[in-house]
Order: sequence, then C-alpha cells, then structure tokens
Amino acid sequence: MTDPTTGLRTAPVVDLRSDTVTRPTPAMRRAMADAEVGDDVYGEDPTVNLLQEEVAAAFGHEAGLFVPSGSMGNQIALRLLVPPGSELLCDADAHVVTFELAAAAVHGQVSTRTWTSTGGRFDPAVVAAMVRPPAPYWVPTAAVAVEQTHNLAGGAVQEHAALRRLREIADAAGIAVHCDGARIWNAHVATGVPLAGYGALFDTVSVCLSKGLGAPVGSVLVGSAERIGQARVLRKRLGGGMRQVGILAAAGRYALAHHLDRLAEDHRRARRLAELLGLDPAVASTNIVAMEVPDAPAVVARARAEGVLVGALGPRIVRCVTHLDVDDSGIERAGKVLSGVLGHAP
Ligand SMILES: *Cc1c(COP(=O)(O)O)cnc(C)c1O
Repeated sequence: MTDPTTGLRTAPVVDLRSDTVTRPTPAMRRAMADAEVGDDVYGEDPTVNLLQEEVAAAFGHEAGLFVPSGSMGNQIALRLLVPPGSELLCDADAHVVTFELAAAAVHGQVSTRTWTSTGGRFDPAVVAAMVRPPAPYWVPTAAVAVEQTHNLAGGAVQEHAALRRLREIADAAGIAVHCDGARIWNAHVATGVPLAGYGALFDTVSVCLSKGLGAPVGSVLVGSAERIGQARVLRKRLGGGMRQVGILAAAGRYALAHHLDRLAEDHRRARRLAELLGLDPAVASTNIVAMEVPDAPAVVARARAEGVLVGALGPRIVRCVTHLDVDDSGIERAGKVLSGVLGHAP
C-alpha cells in the first residue's frame, strides 16, 4: 500500500475488529463460481442440500437449514423451542439478548431471563435453580441457550462437563437446549471435543460459516428433521427463502473443507498477541483477546491512526479477533502499536 499524500509505502492495515471481516480467498471464489445451483425455495439447489447434509451429519443431527445469518439461525431456533409467552434462559451477555435487537420478544413473544457469569462460563446449578415448571402464576421456562464460544466473554469455551450437566438438567425439567454455536468450530479445535460430541447435547445448534471459517455469508441451523421442516417455513416467512444460493453454500462447503483445522493458527496468534500486550496468554482461550482499558474508544481511535483496527465493546473493553486475513507479521505489528497506545513497552 502507498500513502496517497507522501507516496511512501505503508504497511497494510491490520484489521482485528472481528473475524467477520475476512474476504473469500481466490480458491473459495473459484468454488463459488463453479457451484452447481438450483432454486433452493423448491429444495432444488444441490450445493445447498450438500452443505445442509454435511453440517447436520457433522453434529450428529438429522437435518440442517442454510440461513443468511447467525441471528436468523438463532431466532428461528428460539421460535421452534419457546412458545409465545414462555421464557428462554440465557447469559446476560449472550448474543441472543444483546445483539439481536430484541428479536425474541418482537418476533416470538418470548420472554428472556438471564444469569450473570464469571468469564462467560455458566454454572449448571444456577441454571437449574432458575427453571420454572408450568403453573398458572409464572412464566414457564421452555428452553436454555448457551453460547459456544462466548463472544463477549472473550471467546471463552464452555466446559464439556458443564454442557453435559446442563443436558441432564434440561431433560429432567422437560425443557430444550439451544446452542448459539457461531464459533463452536473454535471450541472444537481448541478442545478436541468432536462436533458430534457437542451436537449430542443440544436440540438445535446454529453455526456460522462467516466468522473464522471465512465464508462471505451464511449460517446453518441443525436439529431434528421435524424441527428443520418447521424452520424452513419460519425462514420463508421471515423473507429468508433464497434461490440459486448454492453460490454461497459452495463458499461454506469450501470453508469447512479447508479452513477448519487452521483455526488453531488463529488461536496461536491470539495467544501471541496477548503475550505482546503483557496479558496472560490464557485470556486468549480461542481467537479473541478482550482487555479492560480506561477508555476503549480512545484506544480504538489511536490504534486506527497507526493502521491497526480493533473494536470497542462498551466504554472500557477493547476486543481483538484473529482470523484468516491476519498473519504473524500483522500480529507482531498490532502488538507493537497497541502496546504503544496502551502506554507500555512491547
Ligand atoms: C456473529 C455472532 C452471531 C451471528 O451474527 P450474524 O451477524 O447475525 O451472522 C451469533 N452469535 C454470536 C455469539 C456471534 O458472535
């Protein structure tokens, strides 16, 4: 890159705002261009059908549905699991109650009740104590949602033992469990727990192809064949029925085949960034480094002026996310710039 005013070569911008900023690679674009397509509202797009089958099989579920966004995947799942006038339990910082614009209330007439957690990891005993059985004088609990990994908690991984315990609690109470698995791929790569090991614990899982996997668009919701049949109707009603969308599904299939194992590199780079910033590398359990600073917007602005883009999650938290389009030299430069901005030597 060349600075337009000085004509001098400058280093490219290092964009750590989110793992959604990745652009499709040349090979992914070729896979998209070559995709066989058909009308997916008629169920006739072969590439979409393959993607849905592959993702469902990976999680050990009967069926999958390609949806335009993770938010739509989550919200369709909540409609499937929580009848109007019933409640969903989830973390107070969960994406489903923080970044989905009250969709559960607006579209589903779903009441939400939240728990607070330390480091994003839920306590199964706390959740168990919150469950309300049906009665004519309170809001009955219909489902619990957990986020794997936990975005606002810095990519924290929910322990498999806690998830298993949650499944037992839900079964005993006769309620459902949804997983917002936007970054469940990162949890799988970080822990070695098979995707099917996670899938077995949830009634529905929504997974994003457009985060660390690097596809431009799309999520898949998996569940039983019956639920996914209902999900098809809900998706169409929301305006999410798409036609020759195999072009996008091809990007997702390419991402799953070629970009899943490499998430380990993103995790290594997140640990390296934490180390460069003088943090305990353990804060970066997956591909996110979140840190508390006195003035997050100021840190964002000063880093931006030096070509490093980071995100502010509220007034005091800065978030850096590693992904496909950030390499080792980008991390070294981000570490140097951010250390300078934060006022300590690299
Ligand atoms: C990104 C994300 C989603 C889905 O986001 P969309 O932008 O709607 O695709 C859902 N949950 C979590 C935790 C996320 O980080």
